[in-house]
Amino acid sequence: MSRSDYAESHLYRLRHSAAHVMAQAVLEMFPGGKLAIGPAIEDGFYYDFDLPRSLTPDDLVAIEKRMREIIAADHKFMRREVTAEEACRIFADQPYKLELIEGLVSGSLDEDGESSAGEAQPTLTTYRHDNFEDLCRGPHLDSTGQINPDGVKLLRIAGAYWRGDERNPMLQRIYGTAWETAEDLEDYLKRLAEAEKRDHRRLGTQLDLFSIHPDQLGGGLILWHPKGALIRHLVEDFCKREHLANGYELVYSPHIGRSALWETSGHLGYYRENMYAPMEIEGQQYYLKPMNCPFHILIYKSALRSYRDLPLRFAEWGTVYRYERSGVLHGLLRVRGFTQDDAHHFCRPDQMPSEIDFVLNFSLHLLRSFGFDEFSAYLSTRPGERKAVGDVQQWRAAEGALEEALKRTGIPYEIDEGGGAFYGPKIDLKVKDAINREWQLTTIQFDFNLPERFDLTYMGEDGQPHRPYMVHRALLGSMERFFGILIEHYGGAFPVWLAPVQAILIPIADRHVTYAREVAAQMKAAGLRALVDDGSDRMANKIRKAQEQKIPYMLVVGDREVQAGAVAVRLRSGQDLGPKPIDELIAMVREAVASRGSV
Ligand SMILES: [Zn+2]
Ligand SMILES: [Zn+2]
Repeated sequence: MSRSDYAESHLYRLRHSAAHVMAQAVLEMFPGGKLAIGPAIEDGFYYDFDLPRSLTPDDLVAIEKRMREIIAADHKFMRREVTAEEACRIFADQPYKLELIEGLVSGSLDEDGESSAGEAQPTLTTYRHDNFEDLCRGPHLDSTGQINPDGVKLLRIAGAYWRGDERNPMLQRIYGTAWETAEDLEDYLKRLAEAEKRDHRRLGTQLDLFSIHPDQLGGGLILWHPKGALIRHLVEDFCKREHLANGYELVYSPHIGRSALWETSGHLGYYRENMYAPMEIEGQQYYLKPMNCPFHILIYKSALRSYRDLPLRFAEWGTVYRYERSGVLHGLLRVRGFTQDDAHHFCRPDQMPSEIDFVLNFSLHLLRSFGFDEFSAYLSTRPGERKAVGDVQQWRAAEGALEEALKRTGIPYEIDEGGGAFYGPKIDLKVKDAINREWQLTTIQFDFNLPERFDLTYMGEDGQPHRPYMVHRALLGSMERFFGILIEHYGGAFPVWLAPVQAILIPIADRHVTYAREVAAQMKAAGLRALVDDGSDRMANKIRKAQEQKIPYMLVVGDREVQAGAVAVRLRSGQDLGPKPIDELIAMVREAVASRGSV
């Protein structure tokens, strides 16, 4: 369901109505409590409160109980329009609501407290049920009785800054969920538990893949531990080979660039709030790069390009730095420094359709290689007249090429009419993971702006300079975020080709250790990653530990195996393959690596 469909849906009204009911219950518990905002969100709702003490899990139980009473009383939701003055009177003792009213009236805020450049609103609306009235644009259910009490659950308490700004007071947020039936709620809670088991932050620690040190190193900055780094290396190595085999050229560029460059590119004008403060070198200001594009453009401009040289495809695993508020940082998924698998295509207008076809199919090929096989796409088209650069003809041609390419892939797609950036239309590709969650990975973005700003040209067949088309694309997105998604998709049980340790040899007694080491050495010589667990644990413990580490093959060796020149093979799934001769084992594992399969 798209965001606008959701906002119109019964589920949305149900959840938003449940948020009002929860707020009433909380205010009854804390009569002087202050209300901030309480929207419906994907899969549920929340409300932010400023309360005299910290909430406890017991409070949630009590609040939920009171919510059921309010639901059972079947109070009507009543809408009324009020002037700003009336609203200020109604919410006189609610400072956050007063701030919202001021923002709504002046047009600087929306109902969720987000900055907006919207229209000033001369009239506001409130919704009232029982003795609780909230500033709200709605819509709501007709009455509290339409909420199914068996479909509602409060989930957890979290801290949240007022308007997401860490300079503001820290509020207490209660997350809840509401569904039409008890079965829907149960399904959702199951999915939640499954997602929690797969949480990349938890698995990142359990499998020793990466760490984050907000206090010592800084938030949103990732340390890749050896096992995580190995996986990243394998991913990058595979992708770079594929890029080189498909007409890309690899480039490298530095982490900082002069302010003049970012002025020409427009980043200082339009993207400054996402950039970090400049540093001064010999009287010149330099900025950490938030994007790689200007660097690749300078490479393009370093030579006279002829129509015969195009298309050019410059790819870089480029590390960029973007400002994110500390409140929104989240594991590997939202960070401040990250490495994009970035590339820029420069092509002639007549090459554009085939270039788009190519890049789209190349993206799908890479994503499939990592075990994703369900895709959906969004095509974002030209925004309103005033904002867009480039002429309409160019836009329509580019949008047409993107849509035709999408059609040829057979991927389901939606068009976000007018949703493109001011400088060009784009395709976003989403993948579905193993538990049916959607993640946006690939972006293929046209750019009619930078070729103008940097005055890019190529010499045409007619001997005249022409403007090339430029396309930005990141396929996996960022290595950090992609790794987080990969961890959750596989639940940490990486396919054999990516598993940091592919096989572990488990000697039953000390006298089997030498043989185990020989087998491990043979596997290493065959290009596989094998370790020997020669610790003093009992065999059952060693197997349990290997299973926790999600190592694909556990190879047990005892007297019988030593005598037969074999190993007893157990898979991490628990499946027992019995004894196998060493060369057969090596062939089997190598086959799993080559097919990028799992066990
Ligand atoms: Zn409301
Ligand atoms: Zn770019």
